[in-house]
Amino acid sequence: MRELMRATSDRIADYRGSLAEARVYPKLDLDALRTALGGDAPLADAPTPAAAVIAELDDAVRPALVASLGPRFFGFVTGGSLDAATCADLLAVGWDQVAFNPVTGPGPAVVEEVAGGWLKDLLRLPPTASVGFVTGGQAANTVGLAAARQHVLAQAGWDVGRDGLIGAPRVRVVAGLERHATVDRSLRLLGFGTGLVEEVPADGHGAIDVGALTAVLGGGSGPAHGSPTIVCLQAGNVNTGAFDDLVSGCAAAKEVGAWVHVDGAFGLWAAANPATAHQVAGLEAADSWACDGHKWLNVPYDCGYVFCARPEAHAAAMSLTAAYLVGSGEPGLRSPADYVPESSRRARGFATWAALRELGRSGVAELVERCCTLARRFAAELDGTAGLRVLNDVVLNQVLVRHTDDERTDRLVVQADGTCWLGGTTWHGQRAMRISVSNHSTTEDDVHRTAAVIRDVAARI
Ligand SMILES: *Cc1c(COP(=O)(O)O)cnc(C)c1O
Repeated sequence: MRELMRATSDRIADYRGSLAEARVYPKLDLDALRTALGGDAPLADAPTPAAAVIAELDDAVRPALVASLGPRFFGFVTGGSLDAATCADLLAVGWDQVAFNPVTGPGPAVVEEVAGGWLKDLLRLPPTASVGFVTGGQAANTVGLAAARQHVLAQAGWDVGRDGLIGAPRVRVVAGLERHATVDRSLRLLGFGTGLVEEVPADGHGAIDVGALTAVLGGGSGPAHGSPTIVCLQAGNVNTGAFDDLVSGCAAAKEVGAWVHVDGAFGLWAAANPATAHQVAGLEAADSWACDGHKWLNVPYDCGYVFCARPEAHAAAMSLTAAYLVGSGEPGLRSPADYVPESSRRARGFATWAALRELGRSGVAELVERCCTLARRFAAELDGTAGLRVLNDVVLNQVLVRHTDDERTDRLVVQADGTCWLGGTTWHGQRAMRISVSNHSTTEDDVHRTAAVIRDVAARI
């Protein structure tokens, strides 16, 4: 095993070391990949030695890997795992610890406690908030909204955990038009259905229109007052990086006694950087928050966090119990499984603890600031050149670029060349190319090189 682990580490290190110059998107041959993985035959009857299995897997999959870990992948919102965070995840797997309860995993439980405390501090969240280490923003939104559902219905005298939604008082769900798609999936999973959402228009940048939000909520002492209501706000629009006004948004929601859930999958990290923290002013007035580790903190997949200002609602929504579990606590140590949708799971907190230690407070701030600076540099290098126009205020790490029309813009989205990878989107009815700078290893030179390729393609269209 020792030898195999060394060989595997060497394979990983070789791969990671190749990324600065590697093709970003591979030349895929899916049939070759399937064949190399034995997909054209049933599972062999005979066992295979572990070393051969690993060699086969690496040799087969390596040519098909997308270098999203590397410095010139600007698609979606994609971080690249930090060294200590990556190796901490190797420990989590190597130790095979289950972050379930204090008996199966006192180590993981305390690591999550410590890392969760640091996260709350960095993200300017209430120190008393509960934390769940989940798979990502999707799960964090689901858990946050489950806690919301639990609480607003309890306020109306209804125990949704026991009695479900059938026959329950009607819950209002109010969300911005520019909410992330995962919010809708969370609402579907929670039995609300997306048809229930009362949509609030957004402003030109993608932030919620607070005046419209106030009008939809019908504040004051009107008939809507006191009916169970959940308001979803957003910190960091996936296209523009725009932030909802959390001060006014939370105030309008509190007027009608609503629960506020903030989806801050990447944008919440603005709080950790003094130069961008003003964007999330007021976030402490919300009730639950979703954030990702695997995006901007550059922790390996999968890693997200849900925070809840009302730990009792969080636990009531998520905890589980059974006769064989009773007494498996440890005094003064919480059960991680009571705050997440999984029962048994990987000790996900190690990588976050390691990323935060590796970067330190100043390193986290610097990572966020550097990505924002590089995003502005992208905008400066592209706007007004070769028919290109930047569509958004670059308030964070996201840049939207457009050519003269939709068709040219779609041809602009540079993926085949191998230097970089960028995705497309539709913004206010127009096609655009998205640039997201979220990787710790991206340098100024990577931005220059990528911008040069984009300008070059743009000029030739
Ligand atoms: C990425 C993202 C999500 C979903 O996060 P996953 O980690 O992919 O589950 C939710 N909301 C926003 C704003 C995002 O950018």
